[in-house]
Amino acid sequence: MNTRKSDELYKVAKDLMPGGVNSPVRAFGSVGRNPLFIDHGKGDRIYDVDGNGYIDYVCSWGPGILGHAHPEVIEAVVKACYDGLTFGAPTGKENQLAALIRECIPSMEMVRMVNSGTEATMSAIRAARGYTGRDKIIKFKGCYHGHSDGLLVQAGSAALTQSVPDSGGVPASYAQQTLVALFNDEDSVRELFENNKDEIAAIIVEPVAANMGVVLPQDGFLTFLRDITSDNGALLIFDEVITGFRLGLGGAQEWFGIKPDLTTLGKIVGGGMPMAVYGGRRDIMEKVAPVGKVYQAGTLSGNPVATSAGIRTIELLQSDPGIYTRIEERAKRLAAAFREYAKKTGTPLHVNQIGSLLSAFFTGQDVHDYAGAVSSDTDAYAKYFNRMLESGIYVAPSQFEAMFVSNAHTEEDIDTTINVILNQ
Ligand SMILES: *Cc1c(COP(=O)(O)O)cnc(C)c1O
Repeated sequence: MNTRKSDELYKVAKDLMPGGVNSPVRAFGSVGRNPLFIDHGKGDRIYDVDGNGYIDYVCSWGPGILGHAHPEVIEAVVKACYDGLTFGAPTGKENQLAALIRECIPSMEMVRMVNSGTEATMSAIRAARGYTGRDKIIKFKGCYHGHSDGLLVQAGSAALTQSVPDSGGVPASYAQQTLVALFNDEDSVRELFENNKDEIAAIIVEPVAANMGVVLPQDGFLTFLRDITSDNGALLIFDEVITGFRLGLGGAQEWFGIKPDLTTLGKIVGGGMPMAVYGGRRDIMEKVAPVGKVYQAGTLSGNPVATSAGIRTIELLQSDPGIYTRIEERAKRLAAAFREYAKKTGTPLHVNQIGSLLSAFFTGQDVHDYAGAVSSDTDAYAKYFNRMLESGIYVAPSQFEAMFVSNAHTEEDIDTTINVILNQ
C-alpha cells in the first residue's frame, strides 16, 4: 500500500496543527501508523490522495448513513449554496427541519439548532439547570458527550465520590458539578441521588453507548433512569448524537420505548454538514432565550446549507422504509463473521451489535460497561485495523469506536469484508 502523498501531507500538517489534525482520533495514534489523507468519497468508498480506495465503515463517525456524496443530498446542498451561504436571519428551512424532527421524534416538541454535538449537549445541560434551578449533573463513565468543560469528566476508581477532570484546562471546581455513575449499574446512580438530594438537575446518557465501543443498555436500565429522574425532580437527557436517525427514524427512544425530557442530535441530522440540535419538552425549551432566561445563541445556527442537507437526508430515510432493516441485517452478518472468526481461531473477542452499529472487542469478557470495554487488547485491535486497511477496508483507528454500516454498503461489500475478517 503506497501512502507517499498522505505521509507528505501529514508531515506538513504536524507543523501547522497539533498532531496534524483537527480532531484527535484522526491522528491514528493508537494504531501505530500515519493517518490517511482523503481525496474524495463516493457511496460505500473513500479514496485517499495516493489513489487507494477503501470500503468505509467509519462513515465520518456516523453521519454517513446514506454513504458518501449521495447525489440528492449534494443537489440540495448545491442549490442552497447558490441562494446564499448564511444570513443570520430565519429561513423557512429551519421550520421544515424542526417539523421533520418532531414528526420522527415526538418528544422533541420544540428544538434549537446548533453547529456541533458538543454545543447541543452543553446547551441541553444549561437548559436543564435553568429549568430545575439545580447545578449538578450525572454522566456515565465511558459515555462521551462532546468536549465542553463539564462533560470531560470520567473520574478514576474513586468514581462515585470524587469527580476529577479528564482533560487539562478544565477547572476542578467546575468538574465537581459533574457526578459520574457506571453504565448499567443502577446502584451507582441511586447512591448519587441519595448523597445529593435535590441537587441533581439531570442525567445525561447515551442510550446506547457508542463511544467506548458499542455498549448496549441492559434490560430495564433506561426505564430505571426514566423513573429515578422523575421521582427526584431531575431531567433525563438522551444524547442521541449517534443513535438519532441511526437506530431508526425515532432513534433509541423509539427503539426502547422511553421518553426523555430532552434529546440531543448531531451527525446524521446534518447529513454531513455541521449541524446539531437539542430539544424536548416545550416547558423546558421555553426557558431558552429569547423566550426564557437561559442564554444560548449562534451566528451560523440553523445555517441554510446545513439545514438543506439535513432535510434531504431525513426525507430520503423516510422515503425508503427498508433502509433500517437492510443496514441492520448487514451489521448482523458482520457480527456473525467476527464471532465465527473468534471461534475458529480461539481469539478472545466479544461482539456487541444493535441496528447498524457494532463493535468487536478484543476481550474474553462480556462488555456491558466501561471496565469490560477497557479490558480489550488494544494491540490486537491495532493489528486487526492494519490488516483490514491493507485489504482495502477502513474501520475506526481505535478499539473504542463503533463500526457503522450505511445504506451504500452492498451485499458484495459485506461479503468482501467477511472474507477478510475470516481469513486474516
Ligand atoms: C460525536 C458525539 C458528540 C459530539 O459531537 P461533535 O459534533 O463531535 O461535537 C456528542 N455526543 C455523542 C454521543 C457523540 O457521539
